[in-house]
Amino acid sequence: MQKKKTEKTICSYCGVGCGIEVSIDTKGTITVEGDADYPTNKGMLCSKGRNLNYVAQDTSDRILHPEMRWSRNHPLQKVPWDTAFERAAAVFKSIIAKHGPDSVGFYVSGQCLTEEYYLANKIIKGFIGANNIDTNSRLCMSSAVVGYKKTLGEDSVPISYADIELADTFLIAGANPAWCHPILYRRLEQRKADNPEVKVIVVDPRKTQTAAAADLHLQILPGTDVILFNAIARWLIERRKIDKNFIKKHTVNFEAVKEMAFSLSIRKAAEKCGIPASEIRKAAQYIGEASKLLSMWTMGLNQSVIGVSKNVSLLNISLLTGQIGKPGCGPFSLTGQPNAMGGREVGGMANLLAAHKDLGNPIHRKEVSDFWGGKEIQAEPGYTATEMFDALEKGKLKAIWIICTNPAVSMPNVHKVERALKNAAFVVVQDISHNSETTKFADLLLPAAGWLEKEGTMTNSERRISYLPKVIDPPGEALPDVEILWRFAQAMGFKGFDYKNASEVYDEHCLLTKGTNIDISGLNYERLKSEGSFQWPVPHATHPGTPRLFTDFNFHTNDKKAHFNVPQSLYNSSEETDVNFPLILNTGRVRDQWHTRTKTGKVKRLSTHIPQPYLEMNKVDAYLRKLKDGDIAVIKSRRGEVQVKVNVTSDIRDGVVFLPMHWGKVLNNDFGRANNITNDIVDPVSKEPDFKYCAVQVEKFVKP
Ligand code: SF4
Repeated sequence: MQKKKTEKTICSYCGVGCGIEVSIDTKGTITVEGDADYPTNKGMLCSKGRNLNYVAQDTSDRILHPEMRWSRNHPLQKVPWDTAFERAAAVFKSIIAKHGPDSVGFYVSGQCLTEEYYLANKIIKGFIGANNIDTNSRLCMSSAVVGYKKTLGEDSVPISYADIELADTFLIAGANPAWCHPILYRRLEQRKADNPEVKVIVVDPRKTQTAAAADLHLQILPGTDVILFNAIARWLIERRKIDKNFIKKHTVNFEAVKEMAFSLSIRKAAEKCGIPASEIRKAAQYIGEASKLLSMWTMGLNQSVIGVSKNVSLLNISLLTGQIGKPGCGPFSLTGQPNAMGGREVGGMANLLAAHKDLGNPIHRKEVSDFWGGKEIQAEPGYTATEMFDALEKGKLKAIWIICTNPAVSMPNVHKVERALKNAAFVVVQDISHNSETTKFADLLLPAAGWLEKEGTMTNSERRISYLPKVIDPPGEALPDVEILWRFAQAMGFKGFDYKNASEVYDEHCLLTKGTNIDISGLNYERLKSEGSFQWPVPHATHPGTPRLFTDFNFHTNDKKAHFNVPQSLYNSSEETDVNFPLILNTGRVRDQWHTRTKTGKVKRLSTHIPQPYLEMNKVDAYLRKLKDGDIAVIKSRRGEVQVKVNVTSDIRDGVVFLPMHWGKVLNNDFGRANNITNDIVDPVSKEPDFKYCAVQVEKFVKP
């Protein structure tokens, strides 16, 4: 291939955030390779990243120009951008005038770039005067955010990926990095291959690829993680395998956690978790003997009605053992999306303020509103993800602006979301393609530039900020999301949105972080382009970035100590099983698909691994229902049903079934849409939904 140009960028899929070299030949053909110089992946890419060129080049279903309908009964029609902005501003102004600022909201995505997130947040909180912005990151990370804040005083992942090469014990809970964070898992595999004494413990109700390769797999009953972590804590305390000096000098509330841990014997805990007590003791022994313990977790802990309790009980183990703030150890929440962390940095959630400032703090609110020069920022959090669609359904929220996400597939109890979107007075959908089930609800459809077609920044799971260049032009009239947002703000008559480019937006964000715990005032596009990526904080222009946090054990709490927290709930009882719904459904990802398949569904070779949705079911449960491998089953919950093929396996324990989350209507059909049946109940603090615990029945499908 004769290369015309090569640029370095970042993968647009998961929170690992791998570096990619994109080459374009003289005919415009795009190829991608792993960036050998990028510290995260050192040239490696997983199947999704390796096939990004197909997604970048496929413009067959792209939205090429703004489309608008004048009323619900009219079809969408092509309109000029100016008309689209005038209409959006006119409708928003009229709804706000009639129903108040809380009648409108933005629902955005962990795939938005930081600049886009920043502007959406500034528009709604600083100028419309409501806090109704939330994100699909609510569906994956918010329990971890609360856990970090309660324990460390800050939503901060303290570790670096380089700690994988230094750790000697890994505790992986509710995560399958072999499929969902593949490049980090390859680094872990290599660490173990080079050092066979390294121990890997996996906590998961399913025997995933990660669990199958572990030294110890604790195949617990769904929702019993807190009991398990408390039992491990008890063993560590009893056997004096704790770091007394660290606990005394740098933590508070140890006695309360000790009391809770001792409220249940290890034998009783094992019974409740459905595993032998010897396995709990073995895990505790590995942890107690670890010189460098890295704990990793993701959706299995976060996506739960007791997600915060699960998080704090795992974080307690890092504090008990003093395994934080040092090389090779620490708690490490694996972020799902590529820029979930960047979104939190700019306060792009209903309960957050920009620059990790505190929405509940009047001084912080004033600092931000003065900086923006807009309205007074409201103290009350806005609608979170599920609350937003509840409010739409009930008519409290009238208009919603959805950016880069597909809630008509990804939200729990999705039939309710469809009702909500039908009931809305005005729906704006800003996305790259028609290949999203949500676009059909749009009154105004705005064509956004995709990956490679716009510039901006993202922050990966280790706080690493990278610059993504514009490599190719967007098709048709598509515009960068950041420009769509500032032009809407201008149409609304808001001051302070006269940006000329994304770089100016980024500079403003960096300046706002000055003096905070996430200070990146030492960064700008020029530095990121010339010197590469940086881990925050980066407080001045020659600062090299910060690989690890809390190395001085000064935590970001008011008293500078790390806080042990007593979990408020011991186990998940959000939905009782009964004779009608006797099984617990767990949902999750498969290796080669991403979210609702709007991108990966277009790449044929990514569908060869798992071509269609399926139900993973234990052979005992299958036998009781006269189901054989490959049969079609109907899975029913109290909210709906789906029909998929059954995969009979001993990799899942009896009483539990698993359904992948990716399939929706457009690229497949309604049959496999997992969220037809999931529960939209949420953790009371983090407001993260309970995707992994839903009572279902499974029956053989009989043709009517
Ligand atoms: Fe992309 Fe994640 Fe795969 Fe890396 S591991 S190539 S970031 S999907």
